[in-house]
Amino acid sequence: MDISNIRAQFPILTKKIYGHDLVYFDNAATTQKPQQVIDELVKYYTEENSNIHRGVHFLSQYATEKYEKCRTKVASFINAPQPETVIFTRGTTESINLVAESFGQAFINEGDEVLISALEHHSNIVPWQMICERKHAVLKVIPIDKNGDINIEMLPELITSKTKIVAIAHVSNALGTVCPVKEIIKLAHEKNVPVLVDGAQAISHIKVDVTDLDCDFYCFSGHKMYAPMGIGVLYGKKSWLDAMPPYQGGGEMIQHVTFEKTTYNVLPFKFEAGTPNVGDAMGLFKAMEFMESVGYEDIAAHESRLLDYCAERFNDLGYVSIIGTSAHKAGAISFLLKGIHPYDTGILLDKFSVAVRTGHHCAEPVMQFYGIPGTVRASFAIYNTLEEIDYMIASLQKVYSMLSI
Ligand code: PMP
Repeated sequence: MDISNIRAQFPILTKKIYGHDLVYFDNAATTQKPQQVIDELVKYYTEENSNIHRGVHFLSQYATEKYEKCRTKVASFINAPQPETVIFTRGTTESINLVAESFGQAFINEGDEVLISALEHHSNIVPWQMICERKHAVLKVIPIDKNGDINIEMLPELITSKTKIVAIAHVSNALGTVCPVKEIIKLAHEKNVPVLVDGAQAISHIKVDVTDLDCDFYCFSGHKMYAPMGIGVLYGKKSWLDAMPPYQGGGEMIQHVTFEKTTYNVLPFKFEAGTPNVGDAMGLFKAMEFMESVGYEDIAAHESRLLDYCAERFNDLGYVSIIGTSAHKAGAISFLLKGIHPYDTGILLDKFSVAVRTGHHCAEPVMQFYGIPGTVRASFAIYNTLEEIDYMIASLQKVYSMLSI
């Protein structure tokens, strides 16, 4: 794989910050965008912009066709059985809120239980807390061990006759742990409990096959997989989506409206009220094409080389503790410099033009588990290099010598 060729497709990577070449290690927050995605947005708004679905004119029909082609491409990208099981949303957060609200409205009642894990991003905690509070249901949590792995042995006892849904991250954004979602789905299905997978951190690193996983819902954001911000996906099994009430009311999601009664549209439109984000869907199409041009096997091999190399270099330094030491990790490495607040490390790394994230990473319960205020997180994408890790390590040595006095 020719990394310099890949890097050449990302114009922002040539940027200098404070006079240094940008080293962008904040990919778990959002990835950079390749030129073909940027060009597609310009093309759409220059030549193709129109509202879709109901227009009889050329541009509307053209944009509708491209938008629906993107849905079909997402379906084949994640191996969903039918395009109508792919709902476009603003991102993972909206996808999870949609399920929590709509599934919760129909199927969660007083005394029922929702099961999540101690690794979750706030986006896969708070929507469930909100529906549990409203329905007087109980939120239960699968604990993690000190490596940051989910305690899967506890699952058979945690899934009870009252459990209505399990919601679990495919990859932890705070620690990089890859969760055994296929095993969890199998265990949950043995008790007839559906599973939602938060794939926000998985989709850019791991080939996702929703049919093989047999998950009931899968959520992800375009902006974490080289696509624009503001477009995301909810995949759901047709039987569940058909049985769930609409999430939002408005245009497109209706079949007929009278003041007395409204009937709802078929899938996927039932869950897509209002004007959709057509332009960013076009960008998502190009991002999927970009990822296919590299291939998941090469992506995974390159990124795991980066992770292993980074962990080795951290261990050599002697004053870096890695937070989250699961044997199965993807994309991200969280760490602390001995005796130094993560915020100080992050601020100084920035001065060397190394972009990392510091803090609780919207996963406060993970930080509470480790008894720390936060971590520094370096997260990798396909365009990162071993040389960039060397540069971060050299910068960290300077940071440590400045702050450890
Ligand atoms: N879940 C996980 C695991 C995440 O990492 C994120 C983003 N940091 C989200 C959910 C929310 O994604 P978004 O902000 O794109 O909706």
